[in-house]
Amino acid sequence: MASSLNFAYLSRTKVVYYLGRHVNNITKITKLHIRCNSNSNKMASSKVPNIKLSSGHAMPVVGYGTFNLFKENEVRDAARVALEVGYRHFDTAWLYKTEEELSDAITQKIKDGLLKRSDLFLTSKLWNTHHRPESVEEMCRDSLTSLQTDYLDLYLIHCPVAVKGSCKQGDALKTKMPHDDVDFIDTWKVEVHPYYTNNELLDYCKQENIVVTAYAPLGRGMSNSADQFKPANLLVDKTIQKIAAKYNKTAAQVLLRWGVERGYTLIPKSVTPARIKQNIEIFDFSLNEADVETISTLNKWHKCYHLDLYRDHPEYPF
Ligand code: NAP
Repeated sequence: MASSLNFAYLSRTKVVYYLGRHVNNITKITKLHIRCNSNSNKMASSKVPNIKLSSGHAMPVVGYGTFNLFKENEVRDAARVALEVGYRHFDTAWLYKTEEELSDAITQKIKDGLLKRSDLFLTSKLWNTHHRPESVEEMCRDSLTSLQTDYLDLYLIHCPVAVKGSCKQGDALKTKMPHDDVDFIDTWKVEVHPYYTNNELLDYCKQENIVVTAYAPLGRGMSNSADQFKPANLLVDKTIQKIAAKYNKTAAQVLLRWGVERGYTLIPKSVTPARIKQNIEIFDFSLNEADVETISTLNKWHKCYHLDLYRDHPEYPF
């Protein structure tokens, strides 16, 4: 099983959805794309369409985000709902502490005959303490064990800030650690929503044939967390609400569809069954060009995720 794991260092042209950075010494790249016996280009059809990556593999346009705001069992229950209503792309990370509960939900649904592992696109992420090439495998194997799988569809560097030492998952966003100097080519999965449109980066990625994934696509971020996270009030924005009423959709559906129209993938998070379902019911309508443009003019450079802990890191801001 894990012994057949194939660790392949990527060249810039194969980068899946983080932005390529121009560095000369690509021998030090720590980004890994890990695949083993994956058939994700043959993923079973669900109501969510796929986007084709430059690698030739398919990635469902809307995925399910699992950032760790959850109480015990919340991810397990919400992921079950997500699988039942048709999500096949899941975003997790060592940091989130959601890999095991997500895996329980997947294992159960595989047992029930709803899907096969090869129908899923699973992403996990390497934490900042393990950027050194010799440390990557250990953390990757840890994620594979937690997820009870022998391959990931995508393994990403979580943040482009390497630090030294070790910390517990629950303390990772609170613990200040000494910086480490590890070269890398790229590490950004990016925040995108109408108050942070990120146009320059999206244009660059389009030009380079890199598929971008938007996090915090509803602009909520860690809504009930500390100061370093600043949720945007997009769901009550008057322009969004007016457009939503015109299409007979919710504000959240308009925010997500706006991303789909702009050509990237999105990973909204919700633990509320009706919202989980609603967030993929966005393929029975499309926004016209004028409405896409109107929403794009709402940009305020409002970022939900600041990660102040890394403000003095040479790679900050990211
Ligand atoms: P988000 O998806 O923009 O917002 C989540 C919030 O919106 C939750 O509070 C959720 O509430 C609410 N919500 C969801 N659907 C809704 C709907 N239809 N109507 C009204 N409210 C709704 O923010 P996010 O969780 O920060 O980002 C999404 C995912 O991106 C994360 O879970 C994580 O997987 C990923 N991410 C990655 C990175 C990275 O560095 N790579 C960084 C940040 C996030 P309920 O849950 O209460 O329903």
